[in-house]
Amino acid sequence: MGKDTGFMEYKRKNSDYRTKEQRLKDYNAVAIPLEDNDIEEQAARCMNCGIPFCHGMGCPLANVIPEFNDLVYNNRWHDALNVLLQTNPFPEFTGRICPAPCEASCVLGINEEPVNIKEIELAIIEKGFEEGWMSPVLPAKRLKERVAVVGSGPAGLATAYILNRYGYDVIVFEHSKQLCGLLRYGIPNFKLEKWVVDRRIKLMEAEGIRFETGVEVGRDLSRRYLQDRFNAIVLTGGAQEPRDLKVPGRELDGIHFAMSFLSQQNMRLSGEAINPEDEIIATGKNVVVIGGGDTGSDCVGTSLRQGAKEVYQFEIMPEPPAERSESTPWPMWPLMRRDSSSHQEGGDRRWSITTESFSGDGGCVKELKCAKVEWGGAGPKKIEGSEFTVKADLVLLAMGFTGPGRNRLVAEMALELNQRGNIKCDENHMTSRDGVFVAGDMTAGASLVVRAIEDGKQTAMSVAKYLANQ
Ligand SMILES: Cc1cc2nc3c(=O)[nH]c(=O)nc-3n(C[C@H](O)[C@H](O)[C@H](O)COP(=O)(O)OP(=O)(O)OC[C@H]3O[C@@H](n4cnc5c(N)ncnc54)[C@H](O)[C@@H]3O)c2cc1C
Ligand code: SF4
Repeated sequence: MGKDTGFMEYKRKNSDYRTKEQRLKDYNAVAIPLEDNDIEEQAARCMNCGIPFCHGMGCPLANVIPEFNDLVYNNRWHDALNVLLQTNPFPEFTGRICPAPCEASCVLGINEEPVNIKEIELAIIEKGFEEGWMSPVLPAKRLKERVAVVGSGPAGLATAYILNRYGYDVIVFEHSKQLCGLLRYGIPNFKLEKWVVDRRIKLMEAEGIRFETGVEVGRDLSRRYLQDRFNAIVLTGGAQEPRDLKVPGRELDGIHFAMSFLSQQNMRLSGEAINPEDEIIATGKNVVVIGGGDTGSDCVGTSLRQGAKEVYQFEIMPEPPAERSESTPWPMWPLMRRDSSSHQEGGDRRWSITTESFSGDGGCVKELKCAKVEWGGAGPKKIEGSEFTVKADLVLLAMGFTGPGRNRLVAEMALELNQRGNIKCDENHMTSRDGVFVAGDMTAGASLVVRAIEDGKQTAMSVAKYLANQ
């Protein structure tokens, strides 16, 4: 274990953030990573529990957390890296943006602050890159079978990574101009700087994976084309069909889906062209973000950086409790209020609010009519007399995603869907079509990066079994 008495001697220490004033001037990462000696001390807090809930229940990737904590505490960073990479192909993504379900189930968290697992993970992988330990790993033997991976988000990357390690010839087809799905176009730079994903792609290319961008399967490539040339196909197209708010006035200009807004900011930062007529920008505007989740929070941080006049974030659900709710006791993922770095930067956040209509002037949105709701067994109920209006020149709808929706891939492949409208698969991750597999949000629905990576890993193993049996 770390240090026998470490959990009694040391308090949890988190990274500092750059000041709010500095952060709002740029889109760079907000956190300042901890120094190595701080990380070693944090690792010393691990109790090497008899039943490590962090590993067995918390982490979807089943990261072997007590072992790498112990190795870091004993200054054996390279060994810690090897342990981490056994289960997690991309710790540099999860170490930055995972909500860390491992920490929510850490045993120390019952009566103390949990071990700072996420920052230890990030420190290990960044040390690996700094020290030159992250060199390309080539398969011992190249196999003749070819696999097409459609989509380059975390699920597609994880699938490609594992299948390439097995020795298969892997090509990833990506519709967008640049790789990495929501890691590139959804998640803002202040949470995940894009040099991090570029560095990983370079490594994967050096390992032999080929990437083709600007190729939409279903439009540029047909199912027949892929089935004729590849021994297996893995679909990892995500679940990017946004949930709409169909209330009067929805057709007004200035009301956009959150992803259109966020992806434009990421494109701007990477020098990708945006059609001026389609530009969505918050500068000088009254912005209302509808939806209280992570995507909404990313819209708040981005609007503030663009220089919005006012930013509101409305959520229909009631405000969660400040501490873990009794309905989600340890080691469950806690229902509780979470304030992101964006929320600390500004904006006015409100709960139990419903939007009844939009009104405008000259075809552009100018105002929202809202009301307060109360929650009971039958769902939300409007509180009569609680109506209010709020000025808005830009409304961003961040109410979640409904599945792969109109993705051409779904029609082209003519696959069966599950009850939630995502692509149906069996326990081997195979869709209703032989040799066509699916992973990530496209089958699970909108979720987390860590789950997409794990699903990609599991799917790759099923594909390998399938090919071995052919
Ligand atoms: C704004 C936002 C912020 C988020 N923040 C976090 C966070 O902080 N932490 C976290 O854990 N999760 C976060 N998530 C969720 C996370 O990003 C997703 O769960 C994850 O990216 C899903 O991975 P995926 O590979 O399944 O799909 P995606 O990342 O959606 O990738 C799918 C890829 O497939 C491509 N594609 C689709 N159709 C085709 C086709 N026909 N042909 C070729 N290519 C195609 C798409 O262009 C895309 O690149 C966030 C999501 C959003 C929207
Ligand atoms: S649950 Fe927490 S204290 Fe126990 S082994 Fe995991 S990280 Fe260490």
